[in-house]
Parts: sequence; C-alpha cells; structure tokens
Amino acid sequence: MAHQTAFYDSTRAMLERERTVIMARMQSLEQNSIEFELDSDGVPPSGLEREGAIGAMLQSRLADIDNAIARLDDGTYGVCTTCAEPIPPRRLEALPFATLCVPCQSQAEKRVGRRVAVR
Ligand SMILES: [Zn+2]
Repeated sequence: MAHQTAFYDSTRAMLERERTVIMARMQSLEQNSIEFELDSDGVPPSGLEREGAIGAMLQSRLADIDNAIARLDDGTYGVCTTCAEPIPPRRLEALPFATLCVPCQSQAEKRVGRRVAVR
C-alpha cells in the first residue's frame, strides 16, 4: 500500500489539533472544579455533575483520537476494522475517528445489545 504522505500529514495535523483542543478543555474543566472548591461563598457547585459527564465524554474522545493516530501510524487508518474495505474520505471528513464503513456501522447498530468482537 502506497504511503499517502499528504493525506497522512493533514490527517495527523487535524488529529493533533483536535487533541490539543480537548486537552485544553479538560484542563479548564479541572480549573473550574478547583475554583468551585475555593470559591465556596454560598455558590453551589451545580455544574459539577454535568462537568463530570463532559469530562468523561472528553476522555473517550481523547481515546478515539489516540486510537486514530495509532491507526494512522500503522497504516490501518481509514480502513474498516470489520470488512477491511476503505472508508470513504467524505465519511472520514465528517467522522475522523470512524473505524467502520457505512454498511458495517449500520450492521453494528442493528446488533445493539449483542456485542460483536472487532479485530
Ligand atoms: Zn466495513
């Protein structure tokens, strides 16, 4: 398989950028929590629970990014993990962390509740 340098570079740059944004958001989330603790003059930390959910969401997004970067490095990025068909570039643009092509994704969604082992 030919190494697509331009694609690799631009995708990697995009993923790194996304990673930086998420790291910054996680950091500001942490700082907000600390401010809530320090600023305890009657202001209830009402946002903390929601921030916990956001934190978990950011963490799983970060894992997706790391996974995508690893796949980019080993040359499996943009290839469906189920049927090994290339994922259309337009789908990757909309969903950079997609690991399944459209047919496999909809198959997987149909089998919700019955987990399929993905290689
Ligand atoms: Zn597939």
